[in-house]
This record gives sequence, structure tokens and C-alpha cells, in this order.
Amino acid sequence: MNIIDRRKNILRHPSKKTPKRKLSDIKGIIVHHSLTTSGSADAFANFHVKTNGWSCMGYHYVINRDGNKDGLIEWCADWTDVTPHVGNYNKHYIGVCLVGDFRKQKPTQKQMKALYELLEYLMNKLNISVENVLGHQELPSYTWKQCPALNMDELRGHLKYKTYGEVQNNYNNDLKININKTKSDEEKLMFKGIEFKKGKIGVLTILKPINLWKRNGDKLEMVRILQPNEKYRVYGYDEKFGGQYNVGDGYWVTKMDGYVLYETPSKEFLKKDEKMLK
Ligand SMILES: [Zn+2]
Repeated sequence: MNIIDRRKNILRHPSKKTPKRKLSDIKGIIVHHSLTTSGSADAFANFHVKTNGWSCMGYHYVINRDGNKDGLIEWCADWTDVTPHVGNYNKHYIGVCLVGDFRKQKPTQKQMKALYELLEYLMNKLNISVENVLGHQELPSYTWKQCPALNMDELRGHLKYKTYGEVQNNYNNDLKININKTKSDEEKLMFKGIEFKKGKIGVLTILKPINLWKRNGDKLEMVRILQPNEKYRVYGYDEKFGGQYNVGDGYWVTKMDGYVLYETPSKEFLKKDEKMLK
């Protein structure tokens, strides 16, 4: 991974403090594009801090595109820094920004390679599952935004959940936080290709495009359309709205024959589960 640690020398606001969070608050990673055809971490920091008056720049990582910086990842904020990139969701996400306006230009090959490496590295280090790697516009209140103009389903499909070797640079040495080693794939309890977590009762596979709903009292709010072959953990089921599966965090998918396939692990599998989760 071609990465440079800029955390100590990137521009920060002289008087505003960046809010902090615990590592356990981090739920996922949000991918952005800069909407500018060129740029760098310094340029964004200048804009975010001087023009917007923010405490720090909006992203934890910037992936460059120009000249010999093409594919270079600039690390700009600690994982425990709450950087301002997704409003109300800031506390729970790492922000990764690719330089470029992908509505009119493609990301470079080096940028995409860097993006995959960085995402897989962060997923392993922070124990983030692939369904929590999202594009900015996939967050409920940002569906109007074309950020990033990338096919996120395709991107998620290519992500491998694997352990990365220690990164060559020693930027990890001055990281004062202790990160628990993530379990290797062998130790993880996999069911239908996704990690089985305590409290989950099964796995839902999407067969045909179907709505993802958020429940708001007695109303349903459409979040986005789930696509065939996506898999979700199921945490419960109830008869409301014609029968719906709870896929976590207040999100629900309607039970519709031919559109979704629900599968539960066997008793034997669950026994193994008990042992592994102790
Ligand atoms: Zn964005």
C-alpha cells in the first residue's frame, strides 16, 4: 500500500478541537469522490478549515490521482477523530476520498488499486464487514447526492476480507491506540459466505431487486433498492407490513416469495457458534 502519514502536518484549525470517538463507535467506511477534477489532501484541508471553518479536513484518507502522486494515499486524521464528511453519521464512519469528479472522469487504475488495498486493510484492522463499506449517497439522507459516481455493489463484490500484512511504513508505531487483532477467516464462523454474529438468526439472500425499508413509527421509509445476490444478516422477523425481516439498525425487508431467500443455520452450526462466541 502506497501510503504517507500526514496526520501531524496536515492543516488543522488553530483553535477548534476535533471531536473524538472510541474505536468501538466506528461502524463502517464511507467512500467519496472530491467532485474536483484534481486536488490533494492539502488543497481539501485548506478549503475545509479556512473556507468552511471546520476543525480539520473532512476525510481520514485522500487517494490522489495526478502525476507521481497517482494512487498515493494520504492519511490525514486518526481513526478516533470524528471528521466532518457525513453530517449526523460522522461519529460512526471513516471517510475515504478519491480525488476526481467521476461524473466526467474515471478514477485511475492506481487509485482503484489503492482504494481496494486501503478498504481491505481498514476492514481487517477495525473489524468492519463488507456491507458497511458504503458510498456517500447510500446513506439515507444523502440519496440525492452523486457521491461517489462509482458502482458500490460492484466495488463491495470485489472486496476480499483478508488479513493484510503489516504495512511497510512504520506509521503504525506511533499509533497510541491498541487494536485487538481481528480473527482470521478460519476462526470466523461463516454462514452462506457472511460472518455469523451472535444474535443473528439467519441470512437473507436477495433474488430480485427489492426495497430496503426503515420503520418510522407506523410508516415505512424507502432507503434504497437491494440488488440480487446481496446477503444480509437477519436479526428477527415480525408480521407488521405483511411480514418483514429485520436486517439490523432499524432496517427491514418485506418477505416476498421469489424476491428473497431466507436461510437459517443448522443446529449443529449453532452449537459451533456457541463455542466460538464464548
Ligand atoms: Zn461525499
